[in-house]
Amino acid sequence: MSDLTKRTAAELAASMEAGEVTSEQVTRAFVDRIAAVDDKIHAFLHVDAEGALATARRVDADRAAGKDLAPLAGVPIAIKDIVVTKGLPTTAGSKMLESWIPPYDATIVERIRAAGMPILGKTNCDEFAMGSSTEYSAYGNTFNPWDLERIPGGSGGGSSAAVAARMAPLAIGTDTGGSIRQPGAVTGTVGAKPTYGANSRYGLIAFSSSLDTPGPVTRTMLDAAMLHEVICGHDPRDSTSIPQPVPPVVEAARQGLSGDLSGMRLGIIKEFAEEKGAEPGVVAAFEAGVEALAKLGATIEEVSCPHFTYALPAYYLISPSECSSNLARYDSVRYGLRVGDDGQHSLEEVMSATREAGFGPEVKRRIILGTYALSAGYVDQFYGQAQKVRTLITRDFEAAYSKVDALVSPTTPFVAFKFGSRTADPYQMYLADLFTIPSNLSGGPAISVPSGLSDGLPAGFQVMAPTMRDDVAYRVCAALESTQEPRLSDMIPDVV
Ligand code: GLN
Repeated sequence: MSDLTKRTAAELAASMEAGEVTSEQVTRAFVDRIAAVDDKIHAFLHVDAEGALATARRVDADRAAGKDLAPLAGVPIAIKDIVVTKGLPTTAGSKMLESWIPPYDATIVERIRAAGMPILGKTNCDEFAMGSSTEYSAYGNTFNPWDLERIPGGSGGGSSAAVAARMAPLAIGTDTGGSIRQPGAVTGTVGAKPTYGANSRYGLIAFSSSLDTPGPVTRTMLDAAMLHEVICGHDPRDSTSIPQPVPPVVEAARQGLSGDLSGMRLGIIKEFAEEKGAEPGVVAAFEAGVEALAKLGATIEEVSCPHFTYALPAYYLISPSECSSNLARYDSVRYGLRVGDDGQHSLEEVMSATREAGFGPEVKRRIILGTYALSAGYVDQFYGQAQKVRTLITRDFEAAYSKVDALVSPTTPFVAFKFGSRTADPYQMYLADLFTIPSNLSGGPAISVPSGLSDGLPAGFQVMAPTMRDDVAYRVCAALESTQEPRLSDMIPDVV
């Protein structure tokens, strides 16, 4: 049997359907691969080989009994450790939740289980998903399979590295400011942020509730679309989830893969094109991508989104403000870490010792920033202003989408950087999100698809589309993927 870990999720599903392999064989191949490779990559914080194999055997039995199965039944998946999983440790990359075992599943995990997908384990991430390199995880770095001296992106570096190193065919990430797309870009994988509200946040450990969006991390666009259809859809347990049908993204991806984009109008954002901070190799890969899409029949025009320049500062007021409120729940009383409770100290002292010991430096920085931005006397000046900027950015998108069907840009200004090179100055780390943040602030879907190499390292191509038009983004990204032979995700160096 050829190496099953080299196959895409769609191929694995088809092989199982045809009776050529069982889910147990497939799941075993990924479990073995994790055992062989993860010492070097450290993508996983927790591996559940037994649980995954048990699900696989159950699916195999159901298949043998002729039961109706979901399209991805039997295909294993890894889940970012900020999504709660019943009975499986969930830390959010923080000491605060070390050894916490959730008593319930997130809605998206319920859907993954209902689809018969074995859960391989939980992947590393920056603490509470704050970061762009996974260096802020309390449990150590994750390494990029392209170059083990470089970051795998963040905050979802564990998910992207697991997929890139073929330890999982599929993974779940969460995107608040780019944490699905930027890790995808720097590891040569696909990262898709659905429309905010297109899927449920129930059971996502909250960072910034008005922005957090779970989504697929995969090697191909078709795989991403198939996973999107598993996890998305309205959930009454999340009041911000949208009560509308999921757009037909699998059909859109297939349409894109056929390589025809005639009639598609794409916009290049003038303000991003003028951005000086983007690396020349990243810009060149982006321009080659635009050219390839034009050859497939898309028309390209420049559009102006004047307020995108203010997206980064607005995000770094709004998200810390929401995080300062969300993280107040780690108070040493209800659940999670408790430090210094020796009968000699007051509740306030225990609370303060717990938060001092449990949170890392980036999380503390954001709590302080957010508390300040929300404090009486400053709330209008900082948080209020940022919310106004958010509205202006949403209007920029609306104006752009009156002219074009989708907007395109590089995903992130630079390729995978070396460990330690951006941690000294927080702003240098925040710059990774320059191009990804606007679509978080507006809520529209955005996908990063590999677009080429810059100095031998992958660069990502981002496609943004109007709210609940995820299908448009899938179609354009799949069309770009169809022009690549071989696909970039098939060129990832093997780490063993
Ligand atoms: N890098 C961004 C941040 O640090 C985005 C994080 C995310 O999307 N979770 O906030």
